[in-house]
Amino acid sequence: MAKLLSSVCKLCRREGEKLYLKGERCFTPKCSFEKRDFAPGQHGRTAGRSGGGKGMGTGRASDFARQLRAKQKARRIYGVLERQFRRYYDTAITRRGLTGLNLLQILESRLDNVVFRLGFASSRSQARLLVAHGHFTVNGRRTNVPSMLLGEGDTITVREGSSKLTYFKDLGAYTEKRTSPSWLNRDLKSMSGSVARMPERAEIDGSLDEQLIVEYYSRR
Ligand code: SF4
Repeated sequence: MAKLLSSVCKLCRREGEKLYLKGERCFTPKCSFEKRDFAPGQHGRTAGRSGGGKGMGTGRASDFARQLRAKQKARRIYGVLERQFRRYYDTAITRRGLTGLNLLQILESRLDNVVFRLGFASSRSQARLLVAHGHFTVNGRRTNVPSMLLGEGDTITVREGSSKLTYFKDLGAYTEKRTSPSWLNRDLKSMSGSVARMPERAEIDGSLDEQLIVEYYSRR
């Protein structure tokens, strides 16, 4: 399972913006970015919010720094390690269509992301844990692989044994309040969902800059 080694709130401060990695907490005054919106580390305060992290502390960021930051931001939002992110990019190149959009669609089609998008977890990291603990089935088969890529028609369901757990029993009220994107079908009664189609660009986080990510890998 992909593991981010530093505190996730530090990642927001590193990127100079809220990445919403901690679910509900991100929308409360407890969000540490609200209190400390400067980059972590000794020189964080001088780098400031607009710096957007290492390499972008002052002045106009170089093209490379902007490309690097765009890639790091996407990686952190989806909780993917560098090697795997690079593999996704390599796969995106081989697919028809725009490489950047292909890459975002691959990231969105990860099982942990789909669990999060369906509202069965309040953050992707929580979704990763739930999947890793085997609480879901994909097309009827139990899985514990958060990075599993789903395609059109794939169905995920909370495992029968798991649906009796307090977490899933209490989940209904929370999930009802969250809308799920139109590229996914959700059935709260049976605690299941399916992929109706791949998401369009407008249905994916607009703050991500896939063009810069493509430029980053193209020059390497
Ligand atoms: Fe980022 Fe959420 Fe932590 Fe705030 S609470 S700093 S948005 S991960």
